[in-house]
Amino acid sequence: MKKRSKPKRSAKNIKFKKESDLPPTAISLADTMNNKTGKWRSTKPVIDHGRCTSCMICWKFCPDASIEIVEGKPRINHDYCKGCMICAEECPIKAINIEKEKK
Ligand code: SF4
Ligand code: SF4
Repeated sequence: MKKRSKPKRSAKNIKFKKESDLPPTAISLADTMNNKTGKWRSTKPVIDHGRCTSCMICWKFCPDASIEIVEGKPRINHDYCKGCMICAEECPIKAINIEKEKK
């Protein structure tokens, strides 16, 4: 009779049923709206509203949904913006300036 091998430990067969089953690592138990992650930032995006054409490309690309549309214009919510600068990179007319964050 062929010996059965032990099932390999893979992400597919790991089940977390409660908090104590989770591995010891830094994780968030609250959703993003409860964590004001803007404190992580070392650089700050600032929109030059004199140049902005309201194309909303920055809004579309922000991975943290930190850009809101207020009266047809983009507004960065710095409580949540982590300063990745994807918005500044994607803005077609470079209307988002990068400033060093003051701590
Ligand atoms: S810097 Fe990053 S997180 Fe902040 S608004 Fe721009 S794309 Fe979003
Ligand atoms: S991508 Fe640039 S021009 Fe377009 S809405 Fe954002 S800041 Fe304005």
